[in-house]
Amino acid sequence: MTLDVMETIERHESVVRSYIRTFPKPFDRAQGVRIYDTDGNPYLDFFAGASVLNYGHNNPELKKVLLDYIESDRIVHSLDMASVARAEFLDAFNRYILEPRGMSYRVQFPGPTGTNAVEAALKIVRKVTERHKVLSFTNAFHGMTVGSLAVTGNAFKRRGAGFPLTYSESMPYDGYFGKDVDTIDYMDKLLADKGSGIDKPAAIITETVQGEGGLAACSMEWLKAVEDVCRKHDLLLVVDDIQTGNGRTGPYFSFEEAGISPDIVTVSKSISGYGLPLALTLVKPEHDIWEPGEHNGTFRGHNLAFATAKRALELYWSNDELQRETERKGQLIYSALQKIIDKYPAAGGEHRGRGMMRGIRFSADAEIAGTVSEVAFENGMIIETSGPEDDVLKLLPPLIISDEDLNIGLEIIDRAVGEALQRCSIS
Ligand SMILES: *Cc1c(COP(=O)(O)O)cnc(C)c1O
Repeated sequence: MTLDVMETIERHESVVRSYIRTFPKPFDRAQGVRIYDTDGNPYLDFFAGASVLNYGHNNPELKKVLLDYIESDRIVHSLDMASVARAEFLDAFNRYILEPRGMSYRVQFPGPTGTNAVEAALKIVRKVTERHKVLSFTNAFHGMTVGSLAVTGNAFKRRGAGFPLTYSESMPYDGYFGKDVDTIDYMDKLLADKGSGIDKPAAIITETVQGEGGLAACSMEWLKAVEDVCRKHDLLLVVDDIQTGNGRTGPYFSFEEAGISPDIVTVSKSISGYGLPLALTLVKPEHDIWEPGEHNGTFRGHNLAFATAKRALELYWSNDELQRETERKGQLIYSALQKIIDKYPAAGGEHRGRGMMRGIRFSADAEIAGTVSEVAFENGMIIETSGPEDDVLKLLPPLIISDEDLNIGLEIIDRAVGEALQRCSIS
């Protein structure tokens, strides 16, 4: 008797499970931009594990590296002892990413997930400045452990902490009050004013496109102004590039175009390139003031992930081809979404995002986005929603997607919006 996958998971796994509810099929195989259910039906993956799979599922080049590594009995677990794979990754990250961009960071491996990278960043800024408070932004998402939750906007997720989240303060993100209000002026004034009631913070943490918070993209001018505010008030700047990095918006780091120099950068999701957990906290050398072992952990840098990450950097970041292709395909997505927005005016669609991280906010009814995702799934596509009201349809296809598959996906979305409007009785 074969195992009933859905029934077994439902019986044994915690009710906290989430994506399985949006995409309720048993999956087994995956290749490139498609995953397959156990009946062999293909699903075009426009979610890519929330941007973990920028180079596609089971990328053949990376798979080869992984199989060779395992076959040769090379070391898999080594805590943070010296391994060849660790050194090779660090060398490649410097060679292909940091040096060509004139960046100087030490790499900390804080534990395998994104929120681990954010927790390390928060500890560092507090240790360096000897101040407690960190400023974050409305609709920010930085992870689910309590330090990261304290700088996350979403009320539902914050409540999960079970106690008050402190030593943080939320500031309005770019455009929060509409395009006529400069949220930098607001923040700068609060920080300068001795009567504002804001204790001097340690740092500001920001995303450049709010991946979970509804795909609001800040302008590069705004981002530069955030850095200026940090310098003016002697605060450290943390850019959380966990979802936006690894080329998702075009350049390797999403903030490159702004010409800023964050004190700390967090990187995770697509860094291993293969869906293996790996996270980095990049720290300017002058802020790398830990005592050895002061921030420790069992899984701080996994050798299998190092091996695939190194190969991914060689393959995709030794020249600017992927970046140019991402920018080109991003424009293609933008045009297609704009067409969909114009075609269905009753949906009140607004374009969101940047690069290959774009979407539509449906202002007519928050239900529309979820219904589009549902209809798309019925038609063989995985696509998620985003935002505190889940009112934004979010496109995160693997960066390596062909134009042909991209167009197939965009057409599924077009038809799904039409169908969703009918199901939601909007016309
Ligand atoms: C996904 C994400 C995190 C958290 O990463 P986990 O691996 O889920 O802990 C933090 N910040 C941003 C911007 C993210 O997208």
